[in-house]
Amino acid sequence: MKPSIVLVGRPNVGKSTLFNRLTRTRDALVADIPGLTRDRHYGHGRLGSKPYLVIDTGGFEPLAKDGIMLQMARQTEQAIDEADVVILVVDGRIGITPLDKEISRRLRQSGRPVFVAVNKSEGMQHGLVIADFHELGLGEPVAISATHGEGVRALLDLALLPF
Ligand code: GDP
Ligand code: MG
Repeated sequence: MKPSIVLVGRPNVGKSTLFNRLTRTRDALVADIPGLTRDRHYGHGRLGSKPYLVIDTGGFEPLAKDGIMLQMARQTEQAIDEADVVILVVDGRIGITPLDKEISRRLRQSGRPVFVAVNKSEGMQHGLVIADFHELGLGEPVAISATHGEGVRALLDLALLPF
């Protein structure tokens, strides 16, 4: 079985950009699977001889009439439950937010292995940019730039190490 990697995080942190990077496509391999919630996207990638599945969640994106935690409960928590690995994407330019902390708390409860990807870190000092995010209590954060591709290989190496 291919390990599945689910991308979670608050809106605008770069989940979909990272998804495209991990699946090496803009959208060619992205397909909505009928019967599943519309905001979950699945794609395939490969690291050396290791194939993997990536799931891009839109589950934290607030809709007009639904609370954000309701979205999370309905969609993203299901994706997390089905995942072998979770990547929590955060924004290194904005820093830690209350929603990052809330999502982290839920992720710790899930018992899934979680890696924190500190995105948008191009041109920034990696040591500084990750420092804040130790507070999330999810281990050593990894600085990445989804648009530039920096750090993505290192993140994937870590996430797929047990597989
Ligand atoms: P999502 O809502 O988490 O899926 O975020 P998106 O992937 O849609 O990206 C939100 C915005 O952040 C877009 O304008 C992206 O171009 C931008 N973005 C994503 N990754 C990076 C990055 O590594 N560096 C910078 N500077 N911007 C990024
Ligand atoms: Mg998105």
